[in-house]
Amino acid sequence: MENVTRAKIWANVPEKDWNDWHWQIRNRVTNVKQLEDIIKLSRQDKTEIARCLSKFKMAISPYYASLMDKSDKKCPVRMQSVPTIFETRTADSDMHDPLHEDTDSPVYGITHRYPDRLIFMITDQCSMYCRHCTRRRTVGITDKRISDAQIDKCIEYIKKTKVIRDVVITGGDPLTLEDSVLEGVIKKIRAIKHVEIIRIGTRMPVVLPMRITKKLANMLQKYHPLWVNVHFNHPHEVTKEAAEACNILSREGIPLNNQSVLLKGVNDCPHIMKRLVHDLLMIRVRPYYLYQCDLSIGIEHFRTSIGKGIELMERLRGYTSGLAVPTFVIDAPSGGGKVPLMPEYMISRSDKKIIIRNYEGLIAAYTEPEKGESSCKKCHLCDNVFKEDNIGIAKLFSGKAVSLRPMDSKRGHEISGTKFHA
Ligand SMILES: *Cc1c(COP(=O)(O)O)cnc(C)c1O
Ligand code: SF4
Repeated sequence: MENVTRAKIWANVPEKDWNDWHWQIRNRVTNVKQLEDIIKLSRQDKTEIARCLSKFKMAISPYYASLMDKSDKKCPVRMQSVPTIFETRTADSDMHDPLHEDTDSPVYGITHRYPDRLIFMITDQCSMYCRHCTRRRTVGITDKRISDAQIDKCIEYIKKTKVIRDVVITGGDPLTLEDSVLEGVIKKIRAIKHVEIIRIGTRMPVVLPMRITKKLANMLQKYHPLWVNVHFNHPHEVTKEAAEACNILSREGIPLNNQSVLLKGVNDCPHIMKRLVHDLLMIRVRPYYLYQCDLSIGIEHFRTSIGKGIELMERLRGYTSGLAVPTFVIDAPSGGGKVPLMPEYMISRSDKKIIIRNYEGLIAAYTEPEKGESSCKKCHLCDNVFKEDNIGIAKLFSGKAVSLRPMDSKRGHEISGTKFHA
């Protein structure tokens, strides 16, 4: 693991400035002219990037820009941060809001999709605009945080929605907010009795590790249990600086989980993926999700087949530490939420036996218990507040329904207690 070597144009910037996250944000690379000083661009590249910038923003921190290979167009860091002409193309399957984050939003700033948790988008600003960003329809548009009044409306919603036990603060990147402003928001969430855990989703440790100061980590730990999700996609991103940023958070007892996006040409290779998950464990970051690329506008060139993702999972499970294996998920279009996918491990079953195979191809029988019925004694947890027995597949298991039907099936509305989007 190495420190980043600064690109030439920043070679003489004093350490103090370089390590100051405000300096890094102020000096983000946002146009072709600045970019030219860092990587080699042909005349055609320049025209194409400029065309793309009329549609989507670019912003690359000097730190992240320095990680780029100067001449390799396929550099994984460059591919994630420098636009290409492909972004100006809209594929037939592309959607403005594939995940229905706007539809499932009771208050501007919140997407409430699952029974017990929600995401709270407090800003649309990021320190680096990822070319593959799923929220590109909103991210970077105003390049600032939502208003105090709007934050309070969101807090009110969480307060009155007593089933919420997990609040995911996201954006944009919430760590673009000043410590004091961020603390103001977290403090209000922590004061809500029914909120058990707070999570923050951020790419800062990857794209601007200087943001992770001891002061920030010390502020965050006051609001435990607090978890942080990060977003590493390629082993090149795991630098000494990134490792130190993660270390500062871990030392304050903040568990770190990684959410990668499967990207064609960046990490859609079993060897790269394995290197990445191993490098993450070395810096005490647990691989959490590997996302199939969404159907957002202008990112089709990043999409791999689902089969590629399954193949990567096949090449991890068994071959390496279970801790290194993320869950591969598709965020179902139309707001279906995350759906896990994996290779088939169950080969067959009868009422007595289940036949499974492992990563080596070994085939084995597992015998079900003689007395398979539940030993439930109906303790007080049975009538928990979430009434999960009434939701989705659990409703079928509990016997409260014998079928669920999509709303747009002919007789859908008669039985379905679950909200489906057409
Ligand atoms: C991803 C996501 C969550 C959190 O999902 P987990 O599986 O609990 O990490 C919550 N709400 C929305 C809308 C999401 O997209
Ligand atoms: S950091 Fe996240 S929200 Fe921001 S551009 Fe990247 S993927 Fe999108």
